[in-house]
Amino acid sequence: MVIETYQNKNLAYYIKLILGLVEFILLNGFHWKKDELIVLNLHSTPKKLQDNFDIHLRFLQKNFNIINPSVLLDHKPIVNNSKKPSLLLTFDDGLKNNLYAVETLKKYNLQALFFIVPKFVESSLKKDGRQYYLDNIRPVVNPKFDHESEDFESVSWDEIKELVDAGNSIGSHTMSHLLSADMLEAELQYEIVESKKHIEEKTGFKAVSFCSPNNTVLSVSSEAEKIIDTNYKFHFTTYHGSNSTKKIPRKIKRINIESFWDLGVVKFALGRIQNRRIGV
Ligand SMILES: [Zn+2]
Repeated sequence: MVIETYQNKNLAYYIKLILGLVEFILLNGFHWKKDELIVLNLHSTPKKLQDNFDIHLRFLQKNFNIINPSVLLDHKPIVNNSKKPSLLLTFDDGLKNNLYAVETLKKYNLQALFFIVPKFVESSLKKDGRQYYLDNIRPVVNPKFDHESEDFESVSWDEIKELVDAGNSIGSHTMSHLLSADMLEAELQYEIVESKKHIEEKTGFKAVSFCSPNNTVLSVSSEAEKIIDTNYKFHFTTYHGSNSTKKIPRKIKRINIESFWDLGVVKFALGRIQNRRIGV
């Protein structure tokens, strides 16, 4: 079963957009505290949305202390001289069009954490990436945003090494983007442990973070959880919310945003209504 965040610009989208804009003004910005860490999770970042992502980034920089992923992954203290909450950017699936996001991040001297699917990388190198993506990662795409070949293919191992050289970090998003609660031990080992070894062999980067694909509640069994905990420092989940910087948890909560969203919807995703923090 593949469940990836997919949203069209339907009525619900526009309601969120309006609510996001209105609440941000009426409730005077966000509600997050200085000792909180917000981890954002994005997917596709097509070239035509590069300017929109730039708008997102400028807004996020204004409202958050954006940290380099190595600060978290190496357990370094989070330096925060502002009153703003801290924020980390993560990208799932390792799409080639994430290189446009990297270009924009570079403009502001920012870095992010990218979750790689080795089988998707290998398929893309054999020119089968598009089919792999549609079969195993995202079966429904919005042709308005995703239509170039790079919107369906993975970054290559060389490009991943360049990402790392530029100060970004990488982690495992399973071997094949398949993880389900009914998997046998051998399959779990392959998806969780072999993917880590594979990424480390190919890139030389120590993969200390794991990101469960699809919906963590459905994809991660207690068996899988044990294997993840034994092999990784951090498990990035689809659980929604923020994390305390006083005691960073092993299981990281995240908030999803997408590069095609208008800023109002990003504000809604981070806002008080969506995060049930009215009155906080
Ligand atoms: Zn994914």
